[in-house]
Amino acid sequence: MQKDQVFPELAVLRETFERGITRNFLWRQSQLLALDSFLIECERDIATALHDDFRKSPAETFLTETGYLRGEIRFALKHLKRWMNPHRVSIPLIYQPGKGYYIREPYGVVLIIGAWNYPLNLCLAPLISSIAAGNCSVVKPSENAPHTSKIIADGLSSYLDRSAVCVIEGGAEKTKALLENRFDYLFFTGSQAIGREIMHAAAKHLTPLTLELGGKCPCIVDENVDIKVAARRIVWAKFLNGGQTCIAPDYVLVHEIVESQLLHYIQEAITDFYGKDPQLSPDYPRIINEQHFHRFEKLLDGFSPLFGGITDHNGYYVAPTILQDVTSDAEIMQSEIFGPLLPVIAYKKLGDALDIIQRGMKPLALYLFSSDPKVQARVVRHSQSGGVCINDLLFHASCHRLPFGGNGSSGFGTYHGQAGFDTFSFQRSVLKRSLYLDPDLRYPPYSSRKFNFLKRLVTLFH
Ligand code: NAD
Repeated sequence: MQKDQVFPELAVLRETFERGITRNFLWRQSQLLALDSFLIECERDIATALHDDFRKSPAETFLTETGYLRGEIRFALKHLKRWMNPHRVSIPLIYQPGKGYYIREPYGVVLIIGAWNYPLNLCLAPLISSIAAGNCSVVKPSENAPHTSKIIADGLSSYLDRSAVCVIEGGAEKTKALLENRFDYLFFTGSQAIGREIMHAAAKHLTPLTLELGGKCPCIVDENVDIKVAARRIVWAKFLNGGQTCIAPDYVLVHEIVESQLLHYIQEAITDFYGKDPQLSPDYPRIINEQHFHRFEKLLDGFSPLFGGITDHNGYYVAPTILQDVTSDAEIMQSEIFGPLLPVIAYKKLGDALDIIQRGMKPLALYLFSSDPKVQARVVRHSQSGGVCINDLLFHASCHRLPFGGNGSSGFGTYHGQAGFDTFSFQRSVLKRSLYLDPDLRYPPYSSRKFNFLKRLVTLFH
């Protein structure tokens, strides 16, 4: 059986791309505006879908999904013309007279595979970049957030050009079947384990790709900082989305002098934000499914949490939990937590904290709370990660002017703002030469005199 008979949408998209429709500036602009209309007109339904999937509050949905996406669309619309312009470069004297430039061309038909934890954002943010770059796009939302997956499928088919954008819903088997087809670019957000499989599938067709993966994001709290502000920001970033954020602080490394102060303020902040019983808070999300719920129960085994630790299978509730005296060889420190459990580890010297980070794999984000510029510079210089945020958390990922992506095991490739446009574009170089002047110099036969002259010319003017 032909693969495009299994997914007839793909043949439609390819034909649209080949007709050049999506390369047009006005088409790109109209689709971005239509996507914005979807986000505005369906804001309430989107909020309901996310609430049904894992009890995410409308405020968090606005902050981290619809609001962010609308900003990304605005930013793309504002800069799109400039991004699409050919980029002139100056060319060396020996290629004169001539002109050099590169154009950013769409790849063709791209596949965007989303994760469930920001189920709208992780499908539509890459889609914004893909449309802006002039591609046809297939969006595959996560089956683990079924209500959001459905609203994406319904919304995109009603608001966008169906001959250029389509949504294919389903889980692993459907995605594997989809990947049997040749795409011109793959954009995957998800776990490291599945990321490997995606890369394997990409190799078959030699398809270029971006992998947005996870990892353990450390947060260092130095002694020279306002500990109360640090605690409030850590609590906000850790328990947003129920801790199910790829760039959430996975664990805290705190200077031993301020450890008890930090732990005090962290507990105070949790109670301030979610009340005495977070299970009753309308702002505290649930764990996405039973499998992850049991994973957290298992991780908690053997710990006496300093705070929280309560779980309820009914609704998959796991309380905001603080774990003290965790050693770096504990099981919870071996892989990404991706939930509302926060280990806090005290260090004596900054070098000890940096050693712990360096022993692990390169994280997606690294956080530092310190007012000392020397400490700030040292931490950035002696660590590696996808991104860094100093004296705050998460916001480096929502700033449209900063490229967002992983490094090493947390992925490769970047997006957001122009970085997204560039990722979904192929940079095609063009050198245009004049037919005037055609000296004999470059052509054989190469006498030794000619060769010596050529050597000098290339060395001086190339
Ligand atoms: P996942 O890897 O289980 O699934 C991601 C997507 O892959 C889903 O759409 C799923 O349907 C599909 N999939 C699952 N099995 C597949 C297979 N065998 N072949 C092909 N496709 C398959 O990830 P998840 O549980 O949805 O998301 C959580 C992970 O994603 C965490 O590790 C988190 O850190 C990471 N994440 C990273 C970012 C980032 O921007 N770097 C953002 C969000 C989440």
